[in-house]
Amino acid sequence: MSNDGLRVIAIDGPAGSGKSTVARLLAERLGLEYLDTGAMYRAVTFAALRRNLDPADAEPVAALAAKVDLAVTLEGVVVDGVDATIEIRGPEVTRAVSTVAANPGVRAEMVSRQREWARRRGGGVLEGRDIGSVVFPDAALKVYLDARPEVRAARRSKEVSDLDYETVAADIARRDALDQGRDASPLTRAGDAVEVDTSDLTVDEIVDLLAEQIDG
Ligand code: C5P
Repeated sequence: MSNDGLRVIAIDGPAGSGKSTVARLLAERLGLEYLDTGAMYRAVTFAALRRNLDPADAEPVAALAAKVDLAVTLEGVVVDGVDATIEIRGPEVTRAVSTVAANPGVRAEMVSRQREWARRRGGGVLEGRDIGSVVFPDAALKVYLDARPEVRAARRSKEVSDLDYETVAADIARRDALDQGRDASPLTRAGDAVEVDTSDLTVDEIVDLLAEQIDG
Protein backbone atom coordinates (compact mmCIF):
# COMPACT_ATOMS: atom_id res chain seq x y z
CA MET A 1 0.00 0.00 0.00
CA SER A 2 1.37 3.38 -0.89
CA ASN A 3 1.07 6.08 1.74
CA ASP A 4 2.22 9.02 -0.34
CA GLY A 5 1.98 12.26 1.57
CA LEU A 6 1.79 10.58 4.98
CA ARG A 7 4.66 11.01 7.42
CA VAL A 8 4.68 7.61 9.09
CA ILE A 9 7.34 6.26 11.43
CA ALA A 10 6.96 2.50 11.99
CA ILE A 11 8.46 0.94 15.11
CA ASP A 12 8.31 -2.83 15.49
CA GLY A 13 9.88 -5.37 17.81
CA PRO A 14 9.18 -7.95 20.50
CA ALA A 15 7.88 -7.33 24.03
CA GLY A 16 10.29 -5.40 26.24
CA SER A 17 12.41 -4.11 23.33
CA GLY A 18 11.68 -0.51 24.35
CA LYS A 19 9.14 0.27 21.61
CA SER A 20 6.52 2.12 23.65
CA THR A 21 8.87 4.45 25.50
CA VAL A 22 10.93 5.19 22.42
CA ALA A 23 7.90 5.66 20.14
CA ARG A 24 6.25 8.05 22.58
CA LEU A 25 9.35 10.21 23.01
CA LEU A 26 10.20 10.19 19.30
CA ALA A 27 6.65 11.29 18.47
CA GLU A 28 6.93 14.14 20.97
CA ARG A 29 10.25 15.24 19.52
CA LEU A 30 8.91 15.20 15.94
CA GLY A 31 5.57 16.81 16.83
CA LEU A 32 3.66 13.73 15.67
CA GLU A 33 0.96 11.71 17.40
CA TYR A 34 1.67 8.23 18.71
CA LEU A 35 -0.35 5.00 18.45
CA ASP A 36 0.27 1.86 20.52
CA THR A 37 -1.21 -0.84 18.25
CA GLY A 38 -0.52 -3.55 20.85
CA ALA A 39 -3.03 -1.76 23.08
CA MET A 40 -5.62 -2.19 20.29
CA TYR A 41 -5.12 -6.00 20.20
CA ARG A 42 -5.22 -6.02 23.99
CA ALA A 43 -8.46 -4.01 23.95
CA VAL A 44 -10.15 -6.47 21.56
CA THR A 45 -9.00 -9.30 23.85
CA PHE A 46 -10.44 -7.47 26.87
CA ALA A 47 -13.78 -7.06 25.03
CA ALA A 48 -13.84 -10.78 24.09
CA LEU A 49 -13.09 -11.95 27.65
CA ARG A 50 -15.76 -9.62 29.04
CA ARG A 51 -18.30 -11.30 26.78
CA ASN A 52 -17.05 -14.75 27.79
CA LEU A 53 -15.94 -15.51 24.24
CA ASP A 54 -13.28 -18.16 23.76
CA PRO A 55 -10.27 -16.16 22.43
CA ALA A 56 -9.55 -19.02 20.00
CA ASP A 57 -13.05 -18.97 18.51
CA ALA A 58 -12.13 -17.07 15.34
CA GLU A 59 -15.50 -16.05 13.89
CA PRO A 60 -17.19 -14.47 16.92
CA VAL A 61 -13.98 -12.74 17.97
CA ALA A 62 -13.50 -11.27 14.46
CA ALA A 63 -17.15 -10.16 14.42
CA LEU A 64 -16.62 -8.45 17.77
CA ALA A 65 -13.45 -6.71 16.50
CA ALA A 66 -15.43 -5.28 13.58
CA LYS A 67 -17.92 -3.52 15.82
CA VAL A 68 -16.10 -2.77 19.09
CA ASP A 69 -15.67 0.91 19.94
CA LEU A 70 -11.98 1.52 20.79
CA ALA A 71 -10.31 4.70 21.99
CA VAL A 72 -6.55 4.26 22.40
CA THR A 73 -4.83 7.48 23.47
CA LEU A 74 -1.95 8.61 25.67
CA GLU A 75 -4.48 9.02 28.48
CA GLY A 76 -5.62 5.41 28.39
CA VAL A 77 -7.79 2.84 26.67
CA VAL A 78 -11.59 2.91 26.58
CA VAL A 79 -13.47 -0.11 25.22
CA ASP A 80 -17.18 0.32 24.49
CA GLY A 81 -17.29 3.13 27.05
CA VAL A 82 -15.45 1.12 29.77
CA ASP A 83 -12.04 2.28 31.02
CA ALA A 84 -9.76 -0.73 30.40
CA THR A 85 -6.40 1.03 30.84
CA ILE A 86 -5.33 -1.18 33.76
CA GLU A 87 -7.02 -4.47 32.78
CA ILE A 88 -5.50 -4.63 29.30
CA ARG A 89 -2.04 -4.98 30.95
CA GLY A 90 -3.23 -7.65 33.41
CA PRO A 91 -2.38 -11.38 33.27
CA GLU A 92 -5.68 -12.57 31.72
CA VAL A 93 -5.46 -10.28 28.71
CA THR A 94 -1.70 -10.83 28.40
CA ARG A 95 -2.24 -14.61 28.35
CA ALA A 96 -4.86 -14.47 25.56
CA VAL A 97 -3.74 -11.55 23.39
CA SER A 98 -1.43 -13.45 21.03
CA THR A 99 -4.26 -15.87 20.19
CA VAL A 100 -6.60 -12.98 19.37
CA ALA A 101 -3.84 -11.23 17.40
CA ALA A 102 -3.29 -14.36 15.27
CA ASN A 103 -6.90 -14.13 14.03
CA PRO A 104 -6.79 -12.83 10.40
CA GLY A 105 -10.23 -11.21 10.72
CA VAL A 106 -9.15 -9.27 13.80
CA ARG A 107 -5.93 -8.20 12.06
CA ALA A 108 -7.71 -6.98 8.92
CA GLU A 109 -9.97 -4.78 11.04
CA MET A 110 -7.16 -3.40 13.22
CA VAL A 111 -4.91 -2.69 10.21
CA SER A 112 -7.70 -0.75 8.54
CA ARG A 113 -8.29 1.31 11.71
CA GLN A 114 -4.55 1.98 12.02
CA ARG A 115 -4.32 3.23 8.42
CA GLU A 116 -7.35 5.44 8.96
CA TRP A 117 -5.82 6.81 12.20
CA ALA A 118 -2.67 7.88 10.32
CA ARG A 119 -4.56 9.20 7.28
CA ARG A 120 -6.61 11.55 9.45
CA ARG A 121 -3.47 12.98 11.04
CA GLY A 122 -1.21 13.12 7.98
CA GLY A 123 1.01 10.48 9.63
CA GLY A 124 2.25 9.58 13.08
CA VAL A 125 4.49 7.22 15.01
CA LEU A 126 2.95 3.73 15.19
CA GLU A 127 4.44 0.90 17.19
CA GLY A 128 3.64 -2.81 17.05
CA ARG A 129 4.72 -6.01 15.34
CA ASP A 130 3.72 -5.54 11.67
CA ILE A 131 3.73 -1.78 11.12
CA GLY A 132 6.72 -1.66 8.75
CA SER A 133 6.01 -5.03 7.14
CA VAL A 134 2.23 -4.83 6.57
CA VAL A 135 0.43 -1.71 7.80
CA PHE A 136 2.78 0.90 6.28
CA PRO A 137 5.34 -0.80 4.02
CA ASP A 138 6.17 2.65 2.57
CA ALA A 139 6.76 4.33 5.95
CA ALA A 140 9.23 7.24 5.92
CA LEU A 141 11.28 5.41 8.55
CA LYS A 142 11.06 1.78 9.69
CA VAL A 143 12.69 0.74 12.92
CA TYR A 144 13.11 -2.72 14.41
CA LEU A 145 14.01 -2.64 18.09
CA ASP A 146 15.31 -5.71 19.87
CA ALA A 147 17.19 -6.54 23.06
CA ARG A 148 18.65 -9.61 24.72
CA PRO A 149 15.87 -11.83 26.17
CA GLU A 150 17.02 -11.37 29.78
CA VAL A 151 17.06 -7.58 29.36
CA ARG A 152 13.54 -7.59 27.91
CA ALA A 153 12.25 -9.78 30.74
CA ALA A 154 13.90 -7.58 33.37
CA ARG A 155 12.28 -4.45 31.87
CA ARG A 156 8.83 -6.02 31.81
CA SER A 157 9.06 -7.43 35.34
CA LYS A 158 9.87 -3.91 36.58
CA GLU A 159 6.64 -2.68 34.95
CA VAL A 160 4.43 -5.44 36.37
CA SER A 161 5.30 -5.43 40.06
CA ASP A 162 3.00 -8.32 41.01
CA LEU A 163 4.75 -10.93 38.84
CA ASP A 164 8.23 -12.35 39.42
CA TYR A 165 11.03 -12.35 36.86
CA GLU A 166 10.68 -16.06 35.96
CA THR A 167 6.96 -15.73 35.22
CA VAL A 168 7.48 -12.65 33.07
CA ALA A 169 10.41 -14.24 31.20
CA ALA A 170 8.32 -17.34 30.44
CA ASP A 171 5.39 -15.21 29.26
CA ILE A 172 7.59 -13.15 26.94
CA ALA A 173 9.18 -16.28 25.46
CA ARG A 174 5.74 -17.80 24.87
CA ARG A 175 4.37 -14.62 23.23
CA ASP A 176 7.49 -14.18 21.07
CA ALA A 177 7.08 -17.74 19.76
CA LEU A 178 3.38 -17.20 18.98
CA ASP A 179 3.93 -13.76 17.42
CA GLN A 180 6.83 -14.96 15.26
CA GLY A 181 5.28 -18.30 14.32
CA ARG A 182 1.75 -17.28 13.27
CA ASP A 183 0.62 -17.31 9.62
CA ALA A 184 -1.06 -13.88 9.64
CA SER A 185 1.53 -11.05 9.63
CA PRO A 186 4.11 -12.64 11.94
CA LEU A 187 6.54 -10.44 13.84
CA THR A 188 9.42 -9.96 11.46
CA ARG A 189 11.99 -7.29 10.64
CA ALA A 190 11.16 -5.50 7.38
CA GLY A 191 14.18 -5.76 5.05
CA ASP A 192 14.64 -1.98 4.98
CA ALA A 193 14.16 -1.37 8.72
CA VAL A 194 16.87 0.22 10.84
CA GLU A 195 17.67 -2.40 13.48
CA VAL A 196 18.72 -1.26 16.95
CA ASP A 197 19.72 -3.52 19.83
CA THR A 198 18.55 -1.48 22.81
CA SER A 199 20.09 -3.74 25.50
CA ASP A 200 22.92 -1.38 26.43
CA LEU A 201 21.51 1.97 25.33
CA THR A 202 19.59 4.59 27.30
CA VAL A 203 16.21 5.76 26.04
CA ASP A 204 17.68 9.15 25.14
CA GLU A 205 20.47 7.52 23.14
CA ILE A 206 17.95 5.48 21.14
CA VAL A 207 15.69 8.47 20.46
CA ASP A 208 18.70 10.60 19.38
CA LEU A 209 19.87 7.85 17.06
CA LEU A 210 16.45 7.54 15.41
CA ALA A 211 15.90 11.30 15.15
CA GLU A 212 19.24 11.51 13.31
CA GLN A 213 17.97 8.99 10.75
CA ILE A 214 15.07 11.31 10.00
CA ASP A 215 16.99 14.59 9.98
CA GLY A 216 19.97 13.22 8.12
O1 C5P B 1 3.01 -4.46 22.37
P1 C5P B 1 2.25 -5.40 23.30
O2 C5P B 1 3.14 -6.35 24.02
O3 C5P B 1 1.30 -4.68 24.19
O4 C5P B 1 1.35 -6.26 22.29
C1 C5P B 1 0.49 -7.26 22.77
C2 C5P B 1 0.31 -8.35 21.71
O5 C5P B 1 -0.43 -7.81 20.62
C3 C5P B 1 1.57 -8.92 21.10
O6 C5P B 1 2.11 -9.98 21.87
C4 C5P B 1 1.08 -9.40 19.74
O7 C5P B 1 0.48 -10.68 19.86
C5 C5P B 1 -0.03 -8.42 19.41
N1 C5P B 1 0.33 -7.38 18.43
C6 C5P B 1 0.29 -7.69 17.10
N2 C5P B 1 0.51 -6.74 16.15
C7 C5P B 1 0.77 -5.48 16.52
C8 C5P B 1 0.86 -5.13 17.89
C9 C5P B 1 0.65 -6.12 18.83
O8 C5P B 1 0.05 -8.85 16.75
N3 C5P B 1 0.95 -4.54 15.56
